[in-house]
Amino acid sequence: MCENLRATLKMKMEIERIEKFNALAEMAASIAHEIRNPLTVARGFLQLLKQQTRDARSQTYLTFIVDELDRAESIIGDYLSFCKPKPSQESVLDVGTHVQYVVNVITPFAHLHNVEMHLRVEPGLSVYGDGEKLNQVLMNLMKNAVEAMPWGGTLSVSALREERWIRIDIQDTGLGMTEEELKRIGTPFFSTKKDGTGLGLTVSYRIVQSMNGRIDVRSEKGKGTCFSVRLPAADQPTGR
Ligand code: ADP
Ligand code: MG
Repeated sequence: MCENLRATLKMKMEIERIEKFNALAEMAASIAHEIRNPLTVARGFLQLLKQQTRDARSQTYLTFIVDELDRAESIIGDYLSFCKPKPSQESVLDVGTHVQYVVNVITPFAHLHNVEMHLRVEPGLSVYGDGEKLNQVLMNLMKNAVEAMPWGGTLSVSALREERWIRIDIQDTGLGMTEEELKRIGTPFFSTKKDGTGLGLTVSYRIVQSMNGRIDVRSEKGKGTCFSVRLPAADQPTGR
């Protein structure tokens, strides 16, 4: 009886803890949302001011301000998608279309960093889930890959069928990670970057998990990293 009582008490405490966390997350999300609007307005006016000013020093200051506002915006964006996921719009997704879309978006950013892009996608791969969320995962992983190559390199993206899975590999020739770093990635706020939020991977792991998939990482310090995303193929029973 004592055991039973203890188990019930433990469960009750756990439920209370989750409820408290949810209430807090809800409040934080609404504050984040409210802060976002004035930030956007302020950014717009600063941009206008920047276009009008001729003074070089003012130009520099305004650039800093706009960059910092963008940084605040990206932290809020990551935070919102972390603690308040949007309701899903699920359907059968063509993997090639999504990979190509994100590659197109990331290519200018990659070229800016002297990163060459290689793409190899088998046709006819499909998974089941929310397209925007899949894009978000691919974007986070590709952005990290480019950021891991400060002196340039190659970003290879491939997608193929592997038994009942669709496997998407995002491979870079960048900094790589130590064992210690590998253990910590995906935990909220872990970042080794000056401007990092440490939420990109947390969000990505969570999304892939909700799609009944998984992410595996292979990395070698100084050589590079490969993130493999495995999602159930849409023609499989677990794919729906
Ligand atoms: P952020 O990019 O804001 O730092 P992420 O959650 O996206 O947050 O990544 C967390 C950390 O994982 C990064 O700061 C970096 O140390 C490490 N990391 C992620 N992807 C790679 C990669 N491709 N190569 C090396 N390190 C990586
Ligand atoms: Mg990131």
